[in-house]
Amino acid sequence: MKITFLGTGTSQGIPVINSSHPVCLSTDRRDRRLRVSILIEWDGFAYVVDCGPDFRFQMLRANVSKINGVLFTHEHADHTAGMDDLRPYSFQLGAVPVYAQKRVLENLAYRFDYIFNVENKYPGAPRVQPFEVRGTAFQLENLEVIPVECIHGEIAIYGYRFNNVAYMTDVKTIPDNEKDKLRNLDVLIINAIRHKWHYSHLNLEEALKIIEELNPKKAYLTHISHHLGFHAEVEKELPSNVFLAYDELVLDI
Ligand SMILES: [Zn+2]
Ligand SMILES: [Zn+2]
Repeated sequence: MKITFLGTGTSQGIPVINSSHPVCLSTDRRDRRLRVSILIEWDGFAYVVDCGPDFRFQMLRANVSKINGVLFTHEHADHTAGMDDLRPYSFQLGAVPVYAQKRVLENLAYRFDYIFNVENKYPGAPRVQPFEVRGTAFQLENLEVIPVECIHGEIAIYGYRFNNVAYMTDVKTIPDNEKDKLRNLDVLIINAIRHKWHYSHLNLEEALKIIEELNPKKAYLTHISHHLGFHAEVEKELPSNVFLAYDELVLDI
């Protein structure tokens, strides 16, 4: 299985428009972060998790010629605003399978009515095939995917476990019974937005505490704000099995 970090930034990305913060001016390419998303590939299949405003550029940058579908963690714009750019993939596939919980599918159908509405469809609009994710494992091609519920501010959202890898973004807390789905991981990818407390995201200290508790072999931090600091400096402070993810990082698992 191969995981490509398509974006590792928080909702505004880094650099933030019109910001003179030193991290936004950094020349280290690891400090340039598009909105958060991963590409997961195995046995000739390719899925993206989330489809934010940078989706088009991310697909071009990673040279992704085909995808088999999209899994959504939740409805926030930094994870969904790129849906119109599913067009080239929908021209290939007919309709792009999209997986999300019921609330998220309803929200997307409202916001992207012209994509989800099958009647009187504009011929050039992307087409999708919605699949509802519930709290139980489901098959994605030949791979079992386990949705893991977590709390993000006021809403319950999903992370996903694929074999011994889990992708958990926009987490603030994970209920104890859901934590049981995150044991014995080779790789845990989890969000850490900044040092200061945040009402809907783990800060670095909280993320490190969860990592210590779940004890994966390795952990990668994502959904990073410029307020976390320079990549090179933050990574030095982390435990030996914890790394900052960065855009275009590829994990072969
Ligand atoms: Zn969010
Ligand atoms: Zn987000």
